Amino acid sequence: MASVTIDKIDTFALRIPLDTWAPPPMFAGKPRTHVEMFLVRVTCSNGIVGWGECYGSSLPLLNAAFDAWVKHLAIGQDANDKQLTARIERLLHGMGRAGATVHAISGLDIALWDIRGKLEGVSVSTLLGGAKRKRVETYASLLQYSGNLDHVARNTTRALERGYKHIKLHERTADAVAASRKAAGPGIPIMVDTNCAWTPAEAEQPVAAIGASKPHWVEEPIWPPEDFESLAKLRKATGVPLAMGENATGVLDFRKMIAAGATDFVQPSIVKIGGLTNLWQVATEAEKAGINCTPHAFFFGPGYLATLHAIACKEKTSVLERLFADVAFVAYSKTVPDTGGGVDVPDRPGLGADPETELLERFKI
Ligand SMILES: [Mg+2]
Repeated sequence: MASVTIDKIDTFALRIPLDTWAPPPMFAGKPRTHVEMFLVRVTCSNGIVGWGECYGSSLPLLNAAFDAWVKHLAIGQDANDKQLTARIERLLHGMGRAGATVHAISGLDIALWDIRGKLEGVSVSTLLGGAKRKRVETYASLLQYSGNLDHVARNTTRALERGYKHIKLHERTADAVAASRKAAGPGIPIMVDTNCAWTPAEAEQPVAAIGASKPHWVEEPIWPPEDFESLAKLRKATGVPLAMGENATGVLDFRKMIAAGATDFVQPSIVKIGGLTNLWQVATEAEKAGINCTPHAFFFGPGYLATLHAIACKEKTSVLERLFADVAFVAYSKTVPDTGGGVDVPDRPGLGADPETELLERFKI
């Protein structure tokens, strides 16, 4: 095959309104009334186009990372070079081992997987060794209702009515989790994301109290999230299953958290960790060690599709996260629809669908 090189990289910053059926939660000091998406379009010398996605909340910094570094290092390079993003990550390590630069590289990496699938005429699942499952169940990831029991109970019921069979809360109180458990009944897995709520000294009492509602896991209970020793102690002391990893700094962090006995589930975030290349390595290593990889996926674009392929292909079955709110535009609603709490894995070339023109045009900022 003649060599195919990267010709052009375009970026799309999008802002899409959200209705969370409750007062908007705060994020980074501002009410979260919208989701921010940052998409990457890579065009190759033969005209093939691939799509990637970066962590949307880093949106104000991402164009700077692309314009200053990533475009310069990627354009003209072989689109089939599987080491390209690792090399760029190494060249840019001084800009931070996590954060906007790595988020930008993540978007490039996902786009290159899409391109490689399209060049070979096979799906990303095929590139990963083949789908072990044709359908992946999704979970409703409710937003934060700040302990308001009515919002928690009502939206738990709403999620079940819309076909979800797994619920995640972003709450920090035992009462809120109990309200969701009461609405859902005993058979529905409920995950509880606390977003680094407590110091090591504070965490045991609230996590044990939440444990009474039999959560499927408690997510990121400790600040800072890389204090794996304290997380391991908490896990042992409470016996409550823990999940973590969306804020991890690279593959090595996951090895450390597993070696420390800190967690039951690892949650690499494909748009933050360096893309599908690194997520796949984390999933493979973690599952060999007996830990379930259940990636973070609080986003809707090519990163979501790449995560879907990874979940379809990895050793253990796990559920795929769906941000639970009415979003003004649901990407891939026709091409890769989430129906009845599950998604069929597309087997078209690459990721299986490109973002809709309407999404790119209507919500561009
Ligand atoms: Mg989380």
